[in-house]
Amino acid sequence: MELQVYIDGKFYPQSQAKVSVFDHGLLYGDGVFEGIRVYNGRVFKLGRHVERLFMSAKAISLDVGRTEEAVCEAILSTLRKNKIRDGYIRPVVTRGVGDIGIDPRKCTKGATLIVITVPFPALYGDKYEKGLKVVTASYRRVPPQSLSPSIKSLNYLNNILARIEGNQRGADEVIMLDMQGYVSEATADNIFIVQGKTVVTPYSSTNLPGVTRETVFQLCRKNKIPIRERPFTMYDLWAAGEVFLTGTAAEIAPVVESDGRVIGDGKPGPVTKKLMEAFRKLVTTTGTPIGP
Ligand code: PMP
Repeated sequence: MELQVYIDGKFYPQSQAKVSVFDHGLLYGDGVFEGIRVYNGRVFKLGRHVERLFMSAKAISLDVGRTEEAVCEAILSTLRKNKIRDGYIRPVVTRGVGDIGIDPRKCTKGATLIVITVPFPALYGDKYEKGLKVVTASYRRVPPQSLSPSIKSLNYLNNILARIEGNQRGADEVIMLDMQGYVSEATADNIFIVQGKTVVTPYSSTNLPGVTRETVFQLCRKNKIPIRERPFTMYDLWAAGEVFLTGTAAEIAPVVESDGRVIGDGKPGPVTKKLMEAFRKLVTTTGTPIGP
C-alpha cells in the first residue's frame, strides 16, 4: 500500500497528496517545518519538536490554528496509519492559500498542516564507523539580522546553495560560517568540536537550536563530559581532536576530514563514540509510544 500523507485532518495516498499552487508555502516559502524520528515505536522528543515548530511559527507570526496536542496527535495517527515504528516524520505548516502577492493577510483560509512519514535507514550508512568528510562553503549562513537561522522555516535556499557547493567538491556535509567568520553549523546539522577533554559548540544565535544538540548537552552532563558554548573558527575545527555533527536525520555523525585536513588521527574519536553509544540507548528506550 502507498504511504498515506496527512493534510488538514485527512489522509491521502502519497501520489495524490497535493496542496494548492496558491499556497504561500509553495509560492514564497512562507511556512515552518520539523524533522522528527520514531525509534522502536516511540517518537523521540515529540513534545520538544512540536514546541519548536510552534516557536518557529510564532517567530513568523503564523497562527498554526491547532493546539500543540492536536499536532502531536496528527503525528501519532499518521505513524499508526502507515504502521511505521522506525522512521522519519516531517510535519509542515504553511501559511495556506492566498492570492498571488506576498501579503500573509490574504491567506484567509488559515494554515495548512501536512504530516509526512517515511521509513528511514541510517543517513550515512557505514560512515558512522569511517567518519564524514566535510568542506566549508563560501556562502555564509544567513545572519539573525536578516532571517534568524533559529527559525526552522521553509526557506532553505541558503543551506541548499552551500550543499550544491559541497556536492561539487565531493563532501558528505558542508560547514557554514556566520557573517563574522565563526563556524555556525552544517547545512542540516549542528556542529561540535572536542578540544582537550571539552566538547564545544557555537551559541545557537547563528544556527538552529537543534533538538539533537540539546540531547548532546543532556548526555554530556549525564556522562560527566565537560561541554560549553562558545564561538570558534575554522582553525579550531582543523586543530580539534574530534569533530562531530548532530541532527535528527544524521543523529551523531563523526567527521574525520575538513577542507582536506585530517581531524585528530583520522578516525572517529573516543568522546564521539561514547556519545553515539549513549544516544543510541536514549533514542531506543525513551519517547512517546505511538500506540496500537
Ligand atoms: N541545523 C539545520 C540547518 C537543520 O536543518 C537541522 C535539522 N533539523 C539541524 C541543524 C539539527 O537540528 P535537529 O537536531 O533538531 O534535527
